[in-house]
Amino acid sequence: MPFGDANGRRLLGRLREHMAGGGTPQDRLDRTVRLIAEDLNADVCSCYVMRAGEVLELFATQGLSQDAVHRTRLRVGEGLVGAIAARARPLNAPYAWEHPNFVYRPETGEELYASLMGVPMLRGGQVIGVLAVQNRERRTFTELEVETLETVAMVLAEMLAGTGLVSFDELAPVAGNAVLPLRMEGLCLNPGAVLGTAVYHRPSVHIEKLICEDPEAELERLRAALQAMRQSLDDMIRSHVDMAGDHREILEAYRMFADDTGWVARISDAIRSGLTAEAAVRRVDDDMKVRLTQASDPYIRERLHDLEDLANRLLLHLTGGDPTAANRPMPEDAILVCRSLGPAELMDYPRGTVRGVLMEEGTPTMHAVIVARALDIPVLGRLQGLYSRIAPLDALALDADNQQLFVRPSDDVRETFTHSLVARQARRAEYLAERSLPFVTGDGEPISVMMNAGLLMDMAHLEGTGAMGVGLYRTELPFMTRPSLPDVATQTLLYQKILAQAGGKPVVFRTLDVGSDKLLPYWSNDAEDNPAMGWRSIRITLDRPAVLRSQVRALVRASAGRELRVMFPMIANVAEFDDARRLVDAELTRAAGRGQALPEAVCVGTMLEVPALLYQFEELLQKVDFVSVGSNDLLQFLFAADRGNPRVSGRYDTLSVPVLRLLRQVLDRCRATDTPVTVCGEMAGRPLEAMALVGLGYRALSMAAPGVGPVKQMLRSMDSRVVEAYVQRLLDLPAGSPRAALKAFARDHGIKVS
Ligand code: PEP
Ligand code: MG
Repeated sequence: MPFGDANGRRLLGRLREHMAGGGTPQDRLDRTVRLIAEDLNADVCSCYVMRAGEVLELFATQGLSQDAVHRTRLRVGEGLVGAIAARARPLNAPYAWEHPNFVYRPETGEELYASLMGVPMLRGGQVIGVLAVQNRERRTFTELEVETLETVAMVLAEMLAGTGLVSFDELAPVAGNAVLPLRMEGLCLNPGAVLGTAVYHRPSVHIEKLICEDPEAELERLRAALQAMRQSLDDMIRSHVDMAGDHREILEAYRMFADDTGWVARISDAIRSGLTAEAAVRRVDDDMKVRLTQASDPYIRERLHDLEDLANRLLLHLTGGDPTAANRPMPEDAILVCRSLGPAELMDYPRGTVRGVLMEEGTPTMHAVIVARALDIPVLGRLQGLYSRIAPLDALALDADNQQLFVRPSDDVRETFTHSLVARQARRAEYLAERSLPFVTGDGEPISVMMNAGLLMDMAHLEGTGAMGVGLYRTELPFMTRPSLPDVATQTLLYQKILAQAGGKPVVFRTLDVGSDKLLPYWSNDAEDNPAMGWRSIRITLDRPAVLRSQVRALVRASAGRELRVMFPMIANVAEFDDARRLVDAELTRAAGRGQALPEAVCVGTMLEVPALLYQFEELLQKVDFVSVGSNDLLQFLFAADRGNPRVSGRYDTLSVPVLRLLRQVLDRCRATDTPVTVCGEMAGRPLEAMALVGLGYRALSMAAPGVGPVKQMLRSMDSRVVEAYVQRLLDLPAGSPRAALKAFARDHGIKVS
């Protein structure tokens, strides 16, 4: 059944004129209900608006007693009007008194009216009021009349929200439990804790004009916008920009939905009923959202957000608006709510405006998280049903450290949270004050503590933390945030800047480590069943040597006159290291041949991330200048447990006996050949793990900047000989994890690990 008809269109046309007229918002509302009553041949037309506390207040009426306006209040669920709000569905009661929900309110004088038809006023999928018409005689309104009133109710809802007659805040979340405090659990992608205000990364679009003058022109606009949207979805799928996780599947579902003739037909019908293309999209979306929220099938409910996203995309094509909140005014303490973040999107926000990020998806190694780490923004991922639980401007307490989020926190939670934030600040101030103290254990054993970096802006942390250098510079990020492969000159400039910011401190550059979840927008690769074990990292750059050559060329140029330290990721065979190293040597020879200034010294090392390397270690150690243990990947492969999958990433402990034994063997073999070895995976930045590493004998660690201060405190409070003797004993334990024992040991020996 199509929305409205010629009569409906006429009513909307008259409404448009009324709305354009002058007077206060209340005057306009009064005129509107009069007009609707007249047009629908009803004796009464009343508009009820939802107020705080789930109460519907009579805001305007034609036909009922004017004394009842702003006096009559009905609870949601109470009476026919309350029932419409509760169910978010129209109600057509030819004989209202007989309806089981009927309640009589003497102040309204409604005893005169036999029939009632009402519809919910929806905005953003939420009921913000009820619009009802009544007649003295028994009357069954036609389906077309119901549809027309629904369209009018949608226009009224938008009008009300824009007039200031009721505050937007009060209209915000009203359905279900949406106003109650809530605790959600997710996966910590970047630690930290903040209080803030929810901001949708892709905000819903504001519609200026609701009623159209020329439906044909609107239909044409819709066609053009649909075509543009389909095109952009096709491009996105083709370029695999966001292929991480099930994002591609979701995109493909969108794409299918964008072709859904039923959806498009309903929008077209809404336009024919007199709405602008934007208002028609919103109207159909609201309708669908209400139906779907009432669906019991969780799969269908989950798809709700997809539909909303698609409608929003279409609206953006219609309005030519900015797709993200980055360039809009927003609260100073914004916590972004998103499904996932695309390349560089986080960097689009003005510095300092984003306090935290919440994602429905997300993995710890995705690039947005790497950026967040550089910016010191806490990130919590894998939060199911984020959009249905958080409304824009909701207060949030994000506690990424403990993998939890408090939505609309109670005063108690806020208070406790504020206390721990103060304590956190104090600890940070302490780390800052201690930044120039040397990295030595309590018994005077020097430990090299370096920092991991991935962005130029990370380099400022060298100064802020006092780290001794950069033990791992992830070079892939600049490649991911550009529209095309950066050329040698661009890379040279970048590496020069990095080295300049490092001052005299060493920087270990890791060559391109893309693939798996780190994708380049300009390289399309086929979807792989196991991307973490697929065509990634050194495998790509050895298969496409021109890419590695250009990177090494730039590194050689940038390091002229100083030391060049470079290492290769994901080496699985000695032959791969040989090939990569040959390429470095060739570049050095080439540079020398051209009379270029050369690096003062060159150190070429490897990451240890693939367990197979352990069984070629002796051969490898003869060829490398240093080894860096990438425990993130090494352990995921060792335990065959995806590091980004919360279902399995907790199945092993980084401090378990097999890990300690493996790390010990690596260290022993490196020591035997005098090969410097560093641990640069995430575990190195956690004080308890770092304590165990020093206990195993490691003397070089590289970690994300926030770990440097806590690790220094831990080091300075430990006696390395005592810890070493203790950890040595743990190696003989039967399998299991000595984590609890290590914690108790630290506590008993006054070692600061938390
Ligand atoms: C690692 O695997 O431990 C590592 C440091 O590399 P990345 O986290 O960049 O994969
Ligand atoms: Mg790795």
